[in-house]
Amino acid sequence: MHTHLCHHAVGVPMDLARRAVELGLTEIGISEHNPMPSDDFDDWRMYASKLGEYLDAIDAARQAYPQLRIRAGLEVDYLPGYETWIQDLAGRHDWDYFIGSVHYVEGGWDIDNPKRLGEWRSRRAFDVWRQYFDRLTAAASSGLFQTIGHPDLPKKFCFVPAEDCTPLFDTFLHAAAQHGVAIEINTAGLRKECKEMYPAPNFLRLARKRGVRLTFGSDAHQPGEVAMNFTDALQLARDCGYDETVRFEKRAVTALPLNGRVDAP
Ligand code: FE
Ligand code: ZN
Repeated sequence: MHTHLCHHAVGVPMDLARRAVELGLTEIGISEHNPMPSDDFDDWRMYASKLGEYLDAIDAARQAYPQLRIRAGLEVDYLPGYETWIQDLAGRHDWDYFIGSVHYVEGGWDIDNPKRLGEWRSRRAFDVWRQYFDRLTAAASSGLFQTIGHPDLPKKFCFVPAEDCTPLFDTFLHAAAQHGVAIEINTAGLRKECKEMYPAPNFLRLARKRGVRLTFGSDAHQPGEVAMNFTDALQLARDCGYDETVRFEKRAVTALPLNGRVDAP
């Protein structure tokens, strides 16, 4: 979940926690878009100078809602060449988890940015998907992340290749299984043009078959989106054969059975 610090979300951790308690959740995780070495890298992430404010805001929410476990993480962009920077970030706090996400493909294009939608029309969809999954596989193999965000993000604006992408998914999922990295069901896809959670059911069934662990994310960019469509997400997980999920504390993973109920909207 995100906060105002990334410049395109609304609310502070206190607001997210309040909403979570209203919904009866017992644990949430906050994972702001990571800072880059230079604040002008793009216009949709936290500045490095705000890390302290971010962590203080999470602590304030923990104090106000002691009945709620609040995990502190980052959603970290994986780009080749930034491994040292990501390790630097990892060393700045005792984080509960890092979500590894790929938004950028070759040419410095963030494929999910609505302002750069036109790029999709100048490239072959399959080339974009292949580049994306090459990077996602490298992210899963990097040892830098506990879980991988919105794993089939390139479908966001419905630029889906005619070619079969299953081999791309499978290469990534093998790497995730081998390195013990989880993937998430991210319900934000339902709120985008693709109108489908990330990842697609076929992808998730394959993930289950390969033994890849699962987390749940709303990718909330405002308090009203906390745990949005989690009932559907839980159903999707079960339909695809999952009977457990995982949680993270100080980057250690624990499995827990999917026997709970979530009555969020
Ligand atoms: Fe993301
Ligand atoms: Zn965002």
